[in-house]
Amino acid sequence: DSLSNKIAAGEVVERPSSIVKELVENSIDAESTSIEIALEEAGLTSIRVTDNGKGMSRHDAVLAFERHATSKISNERDLFRIRTLGFRGEALASIASVSKISLWTSDGETEGTEVQIEGGVILKESDAAFRKGTDMTVAQLFYNTPARLKYMKTIQTELGHTIDLVNRLALSHPHIAFKLSHHSQTILQTSGNGDQQRVLNDIYGPAVARKMVPFNGENADFKVNGYVTLPEMTRASKNYMTHIVNGRWVKSYASNDAVLNGLHTYLPIGRYPVAVINVETDPFLTDVNVHPAKQHIRLSKEGELLSLIKSSVHEAVKRAII
Ligand code: ADP
Ligand code: MG
Repeated sequence: DSLSNKIAAGEVVERPSSIVKELVENSIDAESTSIEIALEEAGLTSIRVTDNGKGMSRHDAVLAFERHATSKISNERDLFRIRTLGFRGEALASIASVSKISLWTSDGETEGTEVQIEGGVILKESDAAFRKGTDMTVAQLFYNTPARLKYMKTIQTELGHTIDLVNRLALSHPHIAFKLSHHSQTILQTSGNGDQQRVLNDIYGPAVARKMVPFNGENADFKVNGYVTLPEMTRASKNYMTHIVNGRWVKSYASNDAVLNGLHTYLPIGRYPVAVINVETDPFLTDVNVHPAKQHIRLSKEGELLSLIKSSVHEAVKRAII
């Protein structure tokens, strides 16, 4: 119902970047190879996400806005083997309850569907010619929850959160071509050719990307690899370390510390590297169902992973410096 959707929205939809995250993750789960994100006023006025993924049938397009409608897991066992980014089936219902959504989608088999929905109420549902994929616009965010709207920071702050998010998603998915624009000005564009170093170049520029040292390591349960800057290319913030577990960008203080410990003797005080850390493991060892935003995960054998990250980073940088 509309009240519980609004309550859930409080957890999932904190700000424009949270919506971008949910929409883009849906595009990724739909196996898109190209995802465009276009913002007006940092997304407060409009967020449009266009993908070339598998799209939805007319039935699924309407169902998508129902709470707990997910096509991604069907039984409890699946919950422990999650490969998709979404699985809770509540994001679209929550977003729809606090905005005005226009959706065009087609699964390539039927003609296509248009859905218009305002504050969770479907205003229009009709056949509409559309190529395979999905084009969703979330407009007038929080128009019916003024308290939340008032809480929004400046355009620059909100935009900063979204740029940071899209950078991390692009890094996590080098096989997808991303384009992010704000008032039709391109902010980030990646090629989707699968080369993570090239994405680092697109985000941080050649001066940083060229100075990044590759590292890798492996034990019985984990495979890690990534890139880390040499000590002279450090920053004053920890915010430039990106952790990716089985393709999902996650926040991990412990993993930050593992990288820093690996660099310890080389790192000036108060300085932090630009780094990307990719971890592959059996999904059975991970639990992503910790919080609705799915940004934190629990790992069995975390200590083992942390020491692997630390030693892999340490060895690689030591070799590069000598
Ligand atoms: P979840 O991602 O947890 O399943 P959501 O509320 O984010 O839940 O989305 C509901 C459903 O809508 C998804 O399970 C998927 O079937 C469908 N869907 C949403 N966005 C897209 C998209 N861009 N392409 C294809 N299907 C989509
Ligand atoms: Mg989702």
